[in-house]
Amino acid sequence: MSDDVILTAKGLTKHFGGGGFMAKSPVVQAVSDISLEIRRGETFAIVGESGCGKSTLARLLMRLLDPTEGQVTFDGQDISHVTGADLTRLRRDMQFIFQDPFSSLNPRMTVGKLIGEPLEVHAPDLSARDRRQKVAELLQQVGLPAEHANRYPHEFSGGQRQRIGIARALASGPKLVIGDEPVSALDVSVQAQVINLLGDLSRDLGLTLVVIAHDLGVIRHMSDRVAVMYLGRIIEMGTAAEVFEQPRHPYTQALLASIPAPRSAETPREQLSGEMPSPSAPPPGCAFHTRCPHATSACSAAIPTITKVGNSHSVACHRWQDIPVPEGQTAEPARSDQAESRFALYRAALAGGAVQHGPHE
Ligand code: SF4
Repeated sequence: MSDDVILTAKGLTKHFGGGGFMAKSPVVQAVSDISLEIRRGETFAIVGESGCGKSTLARLLMRLLDPTEGQVTFDGQDISHVTGADLTRLRRDMQFIFQDPFSSLNPRMTVGKLIGEPLEVHAPDLSARDRRQKVAELLQQVGLPAEHANRYPHEFSGGQRQRIGIARALASGPKLVIGDEPVSALDVSVQAQVINLLGDLSRDLGLTLVVIAHDLGVIRHMSDRVAVMYLGRIIEMGTAAEVFEQPRHPYTQALLASIPAPRSAETPREQLSGEMPSPSAPPPGCAFHTRCPHATSACSAAIPTITKVGNSHSVACHRWQDIPVPEGQTAEPARSDQAESRFALYRAALAGGAVQHGPHE
């Protein structure tokens, strides 16, 4: 593993059911044979429809779930089966930001206690005074006044609660943070502020970020590289520019096409139709063949292997060389009005002013 790489997954597989007291239930193939590398300091996005296995993959990468098969290596150490002190160290170095900031924060604890709790576990030698000081610094880092330490979660808006969740995740000084749909429960007007905050923190602290999302608009502007998942497998992976501007897999193309087009949209594009099959009975061969407009009989005969199609671009499709990149799917994907307002906020923030990290949402 090169020094640039902080986390590696090899042949990662997770099946649920089919054994023990669930012997008669069908096996759910949530994640199948996933291999990837995440580089130090990058923002890596994992996208796909609900039920594609992306949250299970995130939990496997963090060792919140045991893999059925395969291996995860973090910072040079195989963490697939770590326990005890090694697992505690891992919890310090890898942190999780939850989708719903309200249910992830104990309503009976003050913000100071919530953020201080990881410090008690991972920095037990800190005095109470130093811990309070550290909590105040973390609050300021996420754009909240230090005095908020004495308040309770219900006294905050959704965006502020997510900031508290981020401060709690940062308390142990992690090297890698995984956000599971970190902004999807927030108002559109607040999403850009939290995305902006995550981007700044990642840059300032040298953090590696893994972001799980179903909204392609969210990850387009914050990720360096993107992996697209379908029914438990990665079907396309590359830089954000490669995946968004030159999508090679029919599923990625359909996902991009399904983002509502502006009224001036030129070319009608292939839309995604039908439902994702059940992960307990995935179709044979390419699992996307039941929805793919380019499917041939060969597609249901064998699972396509992931093939390099560019510098860091790879795709799992038997027919990728025959499938044209849709016209008009160039620099910017068509976006909905909601996404437009979010990007306007984001651009304003990048330009240096309109969006601050203040507690104003
Ligand atoms: Fe479509 Fe066949 Fe490619 Fe699967 S392998 S995405 S069914 S063309």
